[in-house]
Amino acid sequence: MLLIKGGRIVDPTSGRDEVGHLVLSDGKIEGFVQGDPPGDFPGRVLHAEGRWVVPGLIDMHVHLRDPGFEWKEDIRTGTMAAAAGGFSSVACMANTQPVNDHPEITRYILEKAKREGAAEVFPVAAVSRGLEGKEMTDFAELAEAGAVAFSDDGRHVSNPLFMRRAMEYARPFGFPILVHSEDRELAGGGAANEGWTALKLGIPGSPAAAEDIAIARDILIARQTGGRLHLQHISTRMGVDLLRMAKKAGVNVTGETAPHYFTLTDAAIEGYDTNAKMNPPLRGEEDRMAILEGILDGTIDAVASDHAPHDDYVKQCEFLRAANGIIGLQTSLPLTLALMGGGKVSPMRIVDLLSAAPARILSLPGKGRLSPGADADVTVIDPDLEWEFRREDVLSKSGNSPFLGWKMRGRAVLTLCGGRIRHSALSGVEADA
Ligand SMILES: [Zn+2]
Repeated sequence: MLLIKGGRIVDPTSGRDEVGHLVLSDGKIEGFVQGDPPGDFPGRVLHAEGRWVVPGLIDMHVHLRDPGFEWKEDIRTGTMAAAAGGFSSVACMANTQPVNDHPEITRYILEKAKREGAAEVFPVAAVSRGLEGKEMTDFAELAEAGAVAFSDDGRHVSNPLFMRRAMEYARPFGFPILVHSEDRELAGGGAANEGWTALKLGIPGSPAAAEDIAIARDILIARQTGGRLHLQHISTRMGVDLLRMAKKAGVNVTGETAPHYFTLTDAAIEGYDTNAKMNPPLRGEEDRMAILEGILDGTIDAVASDHAPHDDYVKQCEFLRAANGIIGLQTSLPLTLALMGGGKVSPMRIVDLLSAAPARILSLPGKGRLSPGADADVTVIDPDLEWEFRREDVLSKSGNSPFLGWKMRGRAVLTLCGGRIRHSALSGVEADA
């Protein structure tokens, strides 16, 4: 038994936002207690006064690099970074080596996560074998093994007929197809957003339209098939507009963005900083503002880090040759909390973006809520804690982040997964072994 005492409980699923106490037992949420805390409580008491107590955060888009690229990250270190960032669950993408296109790989991930993980791992399996966009994977078999969704992330499913078939196949199961929106031909091998900055630096650009065309096409295919579509890492103004329009038209579509798309613009690549190189690329200020607008009006459903660890060999090199992506598990929460700055985004909305919405989109039972019977996945957040993100704080094997040295505000001080303490920054509270 565990009592989390005196925190501000923020739970979007029940609409609760009030100070109280949370009781956990046997790995589940037992209930909420208002007013005076239970007297002689027969278990451990954790103090959360002045902090938020929220359903365990869920990062629905991470690359754990395991199997195949364990020198960049593995399931153990990736989930340690997750827990430190407040995430009790992560969904990992299929572009491993071998690709997660076979139940054996899905099972390997789940078994290793169970053995060594500091957070729960939900594998996302590939839509096509080898991410080649030619031959469909066996969705039923992969789901049976534990896959929760399907995505060829890293690549767009370029053949529209193949995409149509995939959506039709997934539909009766209710699985969402998660898409990395990028028309490869139109992107033309660009390594940054097409615009003044890229022009000035002499870097070939990839136009926003390469992302927008892919988004528009997949929305139309979702409309045609009635399948569930989820747009990954939206970075453009038109992408947000298209998602808004599609939702209005009743298309079964959701969308996520990543903290870097509402925090940075392509100005961050000045000086050829490869830690600001990602795909989709950082866009212009107009796009950044549109992403914020999409978060404010509810068009964008979720925030996911797109945690993409890379070793120095492929990052500390010439810009054009450098790999895409940044680590994000430990900075996602504070960068999202910064949205509250203007007073327009509420704590409830923050928790929805980072926990309740991902649980809904991926249909994760027992996750993203604090109701009785739900899993005892709880994150305690100190929204005012000021800290600096330093290299030595990084728990990932890779350190590719443009946010190193940044002053942050807000941090997860406690992460519980299934009632076990997987991260603690509270004095006198040790993480469970
Ligand atoms: Zn992607």
